[in-house]
Amino acid sequence: MNKQASFFESVSRNFDKAAANTKYPKGLLEQIKTSNAIYKMNFPVKIGGKFEVIEAFRVQHSHHRLPTKGGIRYSHYVDQHEVEALAALMTYKCALVDVPFGGAKGGVKISTRKYTVEQLEKITRRYTVELVRKNFIGPGIDVPAPDYGTGPREMAWILDTYQQLKNGEIDSAACVTGKPEKTNGIKGRTEATGRGVFYGLREYLTLEDEVKALGLQTGTGGKTMVIQGLGNVGQYTGLISIEEGDIKVIGVSEIEGTIVDPNGIDIAKLIKFRAKKGSILGFPGTKTLKKREDWVSIKCDILVPAALESQIHKDNAAKIKAKIICEAANGPVTADAEAILLKKGVVILPDMYLNAGGVTVSYFEWLKNLSHIRFGRMEKRFDQNAYSNLVDMVTRLTGKTIGVKERTLLTKGADEVDLVRSGLEETMINSFHQIRANYTRKKNVTDYRTAAFITALDKVASDYLTMGIFP
Ligand code: NAD
Repeated sequence: MNKQASFFESVSRNFDKAAANTKYPKGLLEQIKTSNAIYKMNFPVKIGGKFEVIEAFRVQHSHHRLPTKGGIRYSHYVDQHEVEALAALMTYKCALVDVPFGGAKGGVKISTRKYTVEQLEKITRRYTVELVRKNFIGPGIDVPAPDYGTGPREMAWILDTYQQLKNGEIDSAACVTGKPEKTNGIKGRTEATGRGVFYGLREYLTLEDEVKALGLQTGTGGKTMVIQGLGNVGQYTGLISIEEGDIKVIGVSEIEGTIVDPNGIDIAKLIKFRAKKGSILGFPGTKTLKKREDWVSIKCDILVPAALESQIHKDNAAKIKAKIICEAANGPVTADAEAILLKKGVVILPDMYLNAGGVTVSYFEWLKNLSHIRFGRMEKRFDQNAYSNLVDMVTRLTGKTIGVKERTLLTKGADEVDLVRSGLEETMINSFHQIRANYTRKKNVTDYRTAAFITALDKVASDYLTMGIFP
């Protein structure tokens, strides 16, 4: 087996491929490509009576806009190159969805399964202290969020530690996003990445010519899907695709193995089953495949890698039978695998666009924290009364009445979650069409990743050019 392209190499090669389609000066492209600041730390934490030295990173990829923004990953695979690749993707992702941040990412090299909740809390708090000490966190500096192995719980610990150290800082709640709703979070953040994946896929599936060329009908209804990774992103992608898209999830792969059911797997029930039994294997109605890795070769319309990078590589890419790959995870397809897949005519909806729902709603959360007010608080009641008056007038003028259910629907004012979902939907649709413009208009661009990269590059380059650093 020849050496596989690493995640870092793949991001770098993809960047170069897109950059070759632009006319920006070499120096500017180099500046955009490189990580602006890297903080590698080793700190001691007392675990079970003994000190353990924990290796961790925070990479700020681009300072062209501040604050920088990006999740924190807990995984034993973490290394500097992985965090740099993830941070770079955040820069392009933010630019693509018009979220005014530079890209960043954090990584703590630990396997979460090896630690108790109390030990994870200790590690998280110590990591936060290190970030504060080096000025690598703050509402206007660098704003972390969840990623693989972390979630709202860790974000709450980060916020609490930050606030203890920065007593009285009025905007301190905006130092981290993806927080629990009760501690200054926002409704709709937990599901945001999966929901964004669904909106992006749904938008692609409206393109009659392209979808027909794949041998499929437009629309999400009745399509089959296979998901790798039933964590935050995989779960919500599955749940929302079933509920709102009438998609059938026929295969799920997790650490313990891969299960299939051609009649469709109820993801809501599977999540409960796994929480109780600690495994997806044995879920009623499903068959377990011999090898976990065989998830890639299940015949389906849509394959959703939602676990880690480099899962689809040059040695398994040819086995893929899906027509569309939805990159819910970051970097799940290596550059070598992509070349094989594009030749086979597989469409790849790229990570930097498709999983941008998380950072989009994180942006809404940051805005909410800075404005110190919940979205919808000022206008909800006003809208409700205005709609109510309108319905009353129509019923008076027509002499016809409507049922309570219809009335409630027509007179509803928008709640925070309605506004968050609407903002996310708008963002995913708009960004898709910006990317598509480059996909259809640029002569040498034949894949969505390169089109997305160029779209992002144009925006980041334009920021640098307005600064006057690169005349
Ligand atoms: P998570 O930790 O919640 O879930 C990941 C899941 O993948 C876990 O259940 C894990 O057991 C499973 N997994 C790991 N290796 C596997 C393997 N070899 N086969 C099958 N399953 C495996 O993480 P997440 O937050 O859902 O992140 C998943 C991916 O999505 C990552 O690439 C992350 O960078 C990306 N992402 C996450 C967010 C977010 O908001 N959380 C946003 C954008 C992108």
